[in-house]
Amino acid sequence: MPPFKLYPTLAVIGMLAIVSVFLAWPKQNSPENPSLVSDDNSSPQPYTTQALPFTNSPLLNTPTVIPASPAPTVSPVVFVEPVESFVQRVMKKPFGLYVDPDNSPVQPERFSGYHTGADAEFTDTKVDVPVKSIAEGQVRSARRSNGYGGVVVIEHVINDQPHLVIYGHLDPTRLIKENSSVTAGETIGYLGRDKSAETDGERKHLHLAILSGTKLDLRGYVSNPEELINWLNPLDLYTPLPTP
Ligand SMILES: [Zn+2]
Repeated sequence: MPPFKLYPTLAVIGMLAIVSVFLAWPKQNSPENPSLVSDDNSSPQPYTTQALPFTNSPLLNTPTVIPASPAPTVSPVVFVEPVESFVQRVMKKPFGLYVDPDNSPVQPERFSGYHTGADAEFTDTKVDVPVKSIAEGQVRSARRSNGYGGVVVIEHVINDQPHLVIYGHLDPTRLIKENSSVTAGETIGYLGRDKSAETDGERKHLHLAILSGTKLDLRGYVSNPEELINWLNPLDLYTPLPTP
């Protein structure tokens, strides 16, 4: 090709190149691209409208496999104290203590035998002491009974087995209704007044006893220590579990 014809050709190629570059220039920041610019320039869009929907993320939709943990070896149930400071107030008659009128830490004493429950003492207060259900359960009995004044019996599941829990020396005029369902911590009555008919003459205290099974036995004392095997020590429910 003769050299004099090369210049116009190069000029045309150069112009085409410039035009191509101009047309291909990215326009993302240009106001001419309507998809990325707000129609309403007078007010900024709230941030929430800019948020990406996380659920559409393919990464987050990937199922996560959680390895199975070993089955717990102890029951995770935490029992509610039947009265405030129950453990600290079991001061005179713990579970299993043998008493008779001569040796009892409570005088005068009219009973003899091995104590089937734990007594929480409240002779230091005249205010109403609410008594609470230690767990969810069914009220099997709620009435006046010799030796107790008012007494409530609730069936609870303890260590995966049915138990009858006896809440004794309650004001018989303010007991929860028989056959009702209770939740853990629900108030089921109030302690009876000190040495009144409400406690059948006993001091103001809660007698809490836990019978294994569902056969009711209201005895507060048994004459043979081997019989105590039918009851649990209530304080065992509130002993901190050993750390593994
Ligand atoms: Zn007692």
